[in-house]
Amino acid sequence: MMKVPLLDLKTQYNTIKDEILKTTAEIYESQQFILGPYVEKLEIEIASYCSTKYALGVSSGTDALLLSLMASGIGQGDSVITSPFTFFATAGSIVRAGAKPIFVDIDPNTYNISSEKISEKAYSMKSIERNALKAIMPVHLYGQCSEMDNIVEFAKKNNLLIIEDAAQAIGAEYNKKRAGSFGDLGCFSFFPSKNLGAFGDGGIITTNSSDFYEKMHTLRVHGSHPKYYHKYIGGNFRIDAIQAAIVSVKLKYLDEWTYARQNNAKNYKILFDKAGLTEKIILPFANENRHIYNQFVIKVPERRDELRKHLDNHGIGTEIYYPVPLHLQECFSYLGYKKGDMPYSEDAALNTIALPIYPELTEDMQIYVVEKIKEFY
Ligand SMILES: *Cc1c(COP(=O)(O)O)cnc(C)c1O
Repeated sequence: MMKVPLLDLKTQYNTIKDEILKTTAEIYESQQFILGPYVEKLEIEIASYCSTKYALGVSSGTDALLLSLMASGIGQGDSVITSPFTFFATAGSIVRAGAKPIFVDIDPNTYNISSEKISEKAYSMKSIERNALKAIMPVHLYGQCSEMDNIVEFAKKNNLLIIEDAAQAIGAEYNKKRAGSFGDLGCFSFFPSKNLGAFGDGGIITTNSSDFYEKMHTLRVHGSHPKYYHKYIGGNFRIDAIQAAIVSVKLKYLDEWTYARQNNAKNYKILFDKAGLTEKIILPFANENRHIYNQFVIKVPERRDELRKHLDNHGIGTEIYYPVPLHLQECFSYLGYKKGDMPYSEDAALNTIALPIYPELTEDMQIYVVEKIKEFY
């Protein structure tokens, strides 16, 4: 039986091992673990990669979101529009900042928040509700940008901030612009399983605003500037120097890896076509925009969970991103949403499944995966 894991970080590590060990050894020798030159280097590199003026390394993607909200002054009494079909941290950080998430359903083709429904929702609000609305947090799910032209236009017209949850989308583009460069703030994650993963937790925030940059820079170290003089109540939001150095090494290979992911996606399309499965199975929506395939998620017509079990029995790793949309999570029940409120998100949660797409995946593995899916249906 062939083994096809959902992700294989070891194979990738082996290709860059020497460089990683050499770079991290320099940090061990210097014993400079907190901020410093490696963090600054990464910040410059990521700002350049995302075409923004600034980038600020932080402790995780989740903290990137929380720090962005804090820097925006969003808190008690405020609300933020976001997608219910995302990782928990998106809405979790809105609540942790003290604000209220307002969920708007997704576009069924891309699984990203629907820009039409954002304006529908905002225009249906009573004026008191409208006044509380401070920002939109679009999520570039699976490595594909949300419809940022419409979202940016709407936000400008209505004086709303945009905080992009680009945790899955480093290098993704919409109309030739990079994820993290559309909004006021762009939040990225270096969680190991992301396209650009650290060897532990880490994240970064991109921005073109010097005001936001300065404020976040201060908030990252407990709001102190100078040291021990606290202008704001911040926190410890620092990325480790070791993680920054590792991400710097990996960044050099990111475009190559992205190309391999895109190639795998094309290959899946050919294989699913050949197998006669494209009538039944809905492949990821693709157009001319740069999709970086953090995940390769297909929609299946029926018996998703049985299919998953079948694939697991044949050594193929899959995942469900995500089985419960956020508006139906127990911890958000106080928000008052119920089943049926976000039909497209609920449908996606029930009928989608992520297949292996990592750069080192071989063609034989892909053939095997499609064969096993054909066998099941
Ligand atoms: C991974 C992820 C996060 C959180 O990032 P961490 O680094 O794990 O804290 C937030 N939002 C989305 C959409 C993610 O995929």
